[in-house]
Amino acid sequence: MIAGRWVGTEDWRRAQLAANLEHVHERIAAACQAAGRPAGSVTLTAVTKTYPASDVLLLAGLGVTDVGENKDQEASGKAAEVSAAGVRLRWHFVGQVQRNKAKSISAYADVVESVDSLRLVAALDRAAAAVRGEPLEVLIQVSLDGDPARGGVAGDDLWRVSDAVASSDGLRLGGLMAVAPLGQEPGQAFARLAELAGQLVATHPGATTVSAGMSGDLEEAVRHGATHVRIGTSLLGMRNSLR
Ligand SMILES: *Cc1c(COP(=O)(O)O)cnc(C)c1O
Repeated sequence: MIAGRWVGTEDWRRAQLAANLEHVHERIAAACQAAGRPAGSVTLTAVTKTYPASDVLLLAGLGVTDVGENKDQEASGKAAEVSAAGVRLRWHFVGQVQRNKAKSISAYADVVESVDSLRLVAALDRAAAAVRGEPLEVLIQVSLDGDPARGGVAGDDLWRVSDAVASSDGLRLGGLMAVAPLGQEPGQAFARLAELAGQLVATHPGATTVSAGMSGDLEEAVRHGATHVRIGTSLLGMRNSLR
């Protein structure tokens, strides 16, 4: 500590986030290099759930452009605060979407990453058409272990759901999202995701996004072609709850 200089909590938090962010960028750059992929081919989405809007604003000030949230009530409040501060970010909704929240989410989200049923596609399409001037980007969440309890589409439902998104006027099919299954080697799961992403883009050439990789497995995800990694803990710190 520099003598005579009081370091405020916000300065301290900014310094902490800056150090964490630098480390995450280094990890992403190293993973890109190891995979022979160009630096900058992976976008960082900072998953800010459970952390306050003040952290989102600090991250924005440090150059973060994309943030992720998983609960509508929390996300809508934060998005409003950030927007009131005059800061424009891309908001990714990464949690389970309750259909009665589709309208609220469509109003502030730029991307909904967790679409996994035809009923949800219909609800989001209607909501997006009602509250947005442009289509809402949607990623299909893929279940890599076939356990529907953890969210995501399994098997041929992927093609049914992605075709439904592609033919919805209110939605734009961006690509795929997945969370590595618990207790499995993530590389195998992400390799499977890459295969599905290749099949998807063959029929939907605009659907190039592959959102995969979290704090514990971003390297494996980048190795298998992730275009977006979703990082919470490594940037913001441990969360109190298991969200
Ligand atoms: C919380 C969350 C993340 C971030 O996870 P960390 O392990 O904290 O990096 C990524 N994706 C989804 C869908 C999440 O819910």
